Amino acid sequence: MRQIDHFISGSAGASSARFGDIMDPNNGVVQARVALGDAAVLERAVQAALAAQPAWAMTNPQRRARVMFEFKRLVEANMNELAHMLSSEHGKVIADSKGDIQRGLEVIEFCCGIPHVLKGEYTQGAGPGIDVYSMRQPIGIGAGITPFNFPGMIPLWMSGPAIATGNAFIIKPSERDPSVPVRLAELFIEAGLPEGICQVVHGDKEMVDAILDHPAIGAVSFVGSSDIAHYVYNRGVANGKRVQAMGGAKNHGIVMPDADLDQVVNDLAGAAFGSAGERCMALPVVVPVGDETAERLKAKLIPAIEALRIGISTDAEAHYGPVVTAQHKAKVEGWIQTCADEGGELVIDGRGFTLQGHEEGFFIGPTLFDHVTTDMESYKEEIFGPVLQMVRAANFEEALSLASNHQYGNGVAIFTRNGHAAREFAARVNVGMVGINVPIPVPVAYHSFGGWKRSAFGDTNQHGMEGVKFWTKVKTITQRWPDGGVGDAANAFVIPTMG
Ligand code: NAD
Repeated sequence: MRQIDHFISGSAGASSARFGDIMDPNNGVVQARVALGDAAVLERAVQAALAAQPAWAMTNPQRRARVMFEFKRLVEANMNELAHMLSSEHGKVIADSKGDIQRGLEVIEFCCGIPHVLKGEYTQGAGPGIDVYSMRQPIGIGAGITPFNFPGMIPLWMSGPAIATGNAFIIKPSERDPSVPVRLAELFIEAGLPEGICQVVHGDKEMVDAILDHPAIGAVSFVGSSDIAHYVYNRGVANGKRVQAMGGAKNHGIVMPDADLDQVVNDLAGAAFGSAGERCMALPVVVPVGDETAERLKAKLIPAIEALRIGISTDAEAHYGPVVTAQHKAKVEGWIQTCADEGGELVIDGRGFTLQGHEEGFFIGPTLFDHVTTDMESYKEEIFGPVLQMVRAANFEEALSLASNHQYGNGVAIFTRNGHAAREFAARVNVGMVGINVPIPVPVAYHSFGGWKRSAFGDTNQHGMEGVKFWTKVKTITQRWPDGGVGDAANAFVIPTMG
């Protein structure tokens, strides 16, 4: 059986006593096994990083940028292979896997401009003969811990800025679909990155704890579910690390009475059910404003949902594929039952869906609930499957407060033709990323990605300038070049002012 090993110091290897199964979600069988590492495996990676990082940090930024350029070219050249690898472990359809990698590559494009971004600040003549300048220096060794749902994009969100700014980077990908991050690390080496600067260690909680406790790792970037994000944040910060930890989501799509409902239905179908709903920027809650809007929307949504095609991940006609594991399928179906038990009106039930020839695959049909209310557990929690819950709001203010008061605050969208309503909504909603007639408002690479409330712990977003800030620390130099004589001894013991 294929084995996925740690990738340390430029090659695969390092022994592990434990292994995890990698499933083929299309067929429900084990397709490979992944090494589950421990503190000893991490130590090997840290030692390789410590040996390589000082020279990488001293490599001038345009040379580091050239590695990024070449890496981008290599990823593009290997896009098909990477997308198939990704789909075979995750289950998302090939076009979606290409999008996953492409969104990550856009962060690499941003990193190709790292010399410009790292230029720093300079003040001439801040005092007599005194100049002040500041520079951004790498943290040293940074680590990334990533979720299963974007095994291309999220490792690239982190590795690009971490490496381009001069750090050594160690990634611990999801143990459910770890192959793409390993392949990306290989491509980094092929692009000219020195060994030890991008490494992959696999594992579960044991490896995560080893990362959080290792004194040589200065920064940890995490993306995953909220309880784990909170845990990672607390433990990492308690150990003196810089931590950004992105968590779960329950994004609302507000539909105003004046919205273009055909467009909304089209957008919702993709945003609620694409990638089987396994996106932190999915729209699993739709909030029509007014019962009349709700009825019109529902009448259009039902046939659109019934027309969705579920298929294996290589089916080019399929809108979405299986969910990632049997356990995740059981969890999503459990939430469908809970929502029905809580009084949600089950309009379309996706349970029991089977795909001919792939009866053991982890498929779930699209599911629609109406009359979901805010007191339901199934509304409060993230389901992370192809399940759309309709929560009716009487008016704009109620819709706004639904999104604002939910425990998660990752993304939100409003659909309207009214510029004033959209503007008001964007200004007041208590959520980190807002779409106006855009269902999945994932910011472009040169802006930054991050939610609010329980969707993110820590104060720095992913990528863009926020990413550069996260992976660097500022050093400020105050220099004086007096024109000969010594300083004023009488004033040497008071706080200097620039006069
Ligand atoms: P997860 O929390 O189960 O796993 C994320 C990472 O944490 C993995 O690398 C995993 O090995 C590790 N981990 C799991 N259990 C752990 C434990 N007990 N202690 C320490 N580490 C542990 O998340 P997932 O199921 O892989 O991914 C889906 C989740 O990620 C969803 O909640 C989704 O909303 C969220 N997500 C958030 C964003 C965002 O930017 N906010 C983006 C993508 C996904």
